[in-house]
Amino acid sequence: MTTADRTSGHALRLSFEFFPPKSEPGMDSLTRVVKRLKETGPDFFSCTYGAGGSTRDGTRETIGLLQNLGVHAAPHLSIGADAQSVIFELLDTYRAMGVDRIVALRGDVPSGMGAARISHNAESLVRWIREHSGDHFHIEVAAYPEVHPDATSAESDLEYFKAKVDAGADSAITQYFYNPHAYYDFMERVAAAGITAPIYPGIMPITSLEGIIRFSAKCGADVPRWIQQRLKSCGDDESAVREFTTDYLSRMCEELIAAGAPGLHFYTLNRWGVSLAICRNLGLLTRDSSD
Ligand code: FAD
Repeated sequence: MTTADRTSGHALRLSFEFFPPKSEPGMDSLTRVVKRLKETGPDFFSCTYGAGGSTRDGTRETIGLLQNLGVHAAPHLSIGADAQSVIFELLDTYRAMGVDRIVALRGDVPSGMGAARISHNAESLVRWIREHSGDHFHIEVAAYPEVHPDATSAESDLEYFKAKVDAGADSAITQYFYNPHAYYDFMERVAAAGITAPIYPGIMPITSLEGIIRFSAKCGADVPRWIQQRLKSCGDDESAVREFTTDYLSRMCEELIAAGAPGLHFYTLNRWGVSLAICRNLGLLTRDSSD
């Protein structure tokens, strides 16, 4: 069965992640990006939530914009240092807006605030959502095939992941990775732990070597040496970087799907080019256009 065959039966879930634009032109650009990515017939678009609640309003406004564009929108919600009452209020607002899916996270501490400010984890947030909103929301959580940097071991990381699922999460999206064996190994450990929630690989297009190395160091993702060397060879040639990342990630996604991944989640970085090109290579476009 080809990738396109699996999609035509809607077997494959597709989603795209954005961050809230900071300006009017940014909102206009996001509108154009969403219109292009709609060609893939995605299941939902999600919008990140800034550390420490810094984008609380921006995330909500972006979700409203996405809904006005006629797509299914899912806000990220990171517990950070927020009080329970703030979270409950947001849940009520989203419910009133017609939102029925939340990506529930712990979040990271904004620089300068100190680690002590985060006293809860994503498991607490999942419990709060279930306690306050019952089964209204489909809850997505994060998963770490290459192990979260805060974890003391791969085993404890998996235990904390299981705790989020046991608390009521329906499915998970992974941190990005460039070695598909990290995902296969994680899925084997997940199955051995009796976890049955679907886990969707997170796909991160690379826009620059420096950017991906800096970001990966913070979130504990591995950028294999051979990929770093290939990106180095691209130098400042943005189109060469784009071509390399599109080719490599298309092949990786194809492999992941063939190995049974239930879908793909693209970290779009508010651009459509690479994500759409990968979907096109995988035969996932419901219609093609060239503008
Ligand atoms: P948790 O699952 O609570 O914990 C992270 C790790 O800490 C666990 O893997 C475990 O090893 C350890 N741990 C958990 N509980 C305990 C405990 N009780 N005691 C000791 N150790 C424990 N960040 C944002 O700020 N905004 C976003 O919109 C956002 N979106 C994201 C989307 C996806 C798909 C992913 C993968 C990440 C996203 N992040 C976002 C980043 C995320 O907030 C960070 O990775 C954060 O460091 C951990 O969040 P979490 O929800 O995985 O935390």
